[in-house]
Amino acid sequence: MQTYRVYKHERYSRRRRKRKTTLTVFLLVLVIALVGVAAFVIFKPGSSVNNLKVSGITDSAVNLKWDKTENADSYCVFWKTSDTDYKKAKNIKQNSYNLTKLSQTTEYEICACAVFDTSEGGKSESKSIYTVASKPKVTQAETKEEGSVKIKWNKNSKAKYYTVQYKSSSDSAFSDKNSQKIKQSSDPTATIKKLTPGGSYDVRVRAVTYHNEKKVNGMWCTLGVTAFKKQRAIDPNKPMVALTFDDGPSNGTANERILNVLEKYGAKATFFMIGNRALEHPDNVKRKAQLGMELGNHSWDHTRYGEQVTASDIKRCSDAIFSITGQYPTAFRPPGGMVTDAIKSECQSENMPLYLWDVDTEDWSTRDASTTYSKAVDEVSDGDIILMHEIYDSTADAIEKIVPQLIKKGFQIVTCSELIEAKTGEKPQPGELYYNG
Ligand code: ZN
Repeated sequence: MQTYRVYKHERYSRRRRKRKTTLTVFLLVLVIALVGVAAFVIFKPGSSVNNLKVSGITDSAVNLKWDKTENADSYCVFWKTSDTDYKKAKNIKQNSYNLTKLSQTTEYEICACAVFDTSEGGKSESKSIYTVASKPKVTQAETKEEGSVKIKWNKNSKAKYYTVQYKSSSDSAFSDKNSQKIKQSSDPTATIKKLTPGGSYDVRVRAVTYHNEKKVNGMWCTLGVTAFKKQRAIDPNKPMVALTFDDGPSNGTANERILNVLEKYGAKATFFMIGNRALEHPDNVKRKAQLGMELGNHSWDHTRYGEQVTASDIKRCSDAIFSITGQYPTAFRPPGGMVTDAIKSECQSENMPLYLWDVDTEDWSTRDASTTYSKAVDEVSDGDIILMHEIYDSTADAIEKIVPQLIKKGFQIVTCSELIEAKTGEKPQPGELYYNG
């Protein structure tokens, strides 16, 4: 009896335990199911970003594109280097992104994810990219060798070596046959020889780095340059005159016609150009450099005069001319002829003397070729600087007669720098103002 009872009690207790276990399992399954549903609602599993593609890798940017994710409200992009934590760009509406502000020659891990309401879905497979070397900063260096160009650039410490290529400005594309490899050094320099003296060329330089034993070409920096040509001989004992042309280049044919005349007679003049116009007519500016004309600065846009002229008005014009020809202007003329101490000091720091004039043809106001001609030819004397403008057809008409006539009268037609050097025996001084020789 006793035994039976015990047995019965044990059986009863076992059944109860079994029921308890079933309940626990049931609750557990319920919790898991609820969590699963919640997770599905919140994270929408399976909605990860697919097919992340990278393209257009530069020294600082990369284009990203991925397949659209259904129902995504927006996307975000993550990226990191081996030494940094993930950075994140949010609220990207399209399925593409231009990731910028990266560092050169650096490996990045990049991935994208979709965003639903405010929660993030699955991440894409991460992509690894390597940014290329930045453009070297290239300048033309001085050379004394006829028909050569020397350039130098800032060392890129990541470079294994550099590639330098050149072409004539009139050729459309660079070719590998005019290519040289320059060793890494603290002061990288390349000399290109056997060019046409005074010829106009384009040179480009890039740094080459290695990543995972693979060669990676950096960004090209391209520069217009002029092959060195010895200065022509000017006789300081013979009369000379400096023709100067302001306000160009411009549309129309006047400026090219003026260059045609100067070229025909082997005459050199000084062109005080406006920076933004130079950028609009780079071929004209290149031609001036090629013909050995003196490149002058006449401010960025000729909208400010006297006290209003800023250092940047002057600097921007110099940079524009340099970007086209590889030469900084060697002369400055202020807009309206208004000189201030601030202008002088900026010219001094940019290595430019200032030139006004002592013969004004008033070609801009008369627009009459015969008046321009008689002012330039009848009023001129040895050492004068003559003011004209390269943008008027009447001036081009006049110059066709002025140049041969001045030569006939025995004048050498020279640039402002040549005039001052020949007349004073020394190079014109940066920041100094000249009216004549
Ligand atoms: Zn002007």
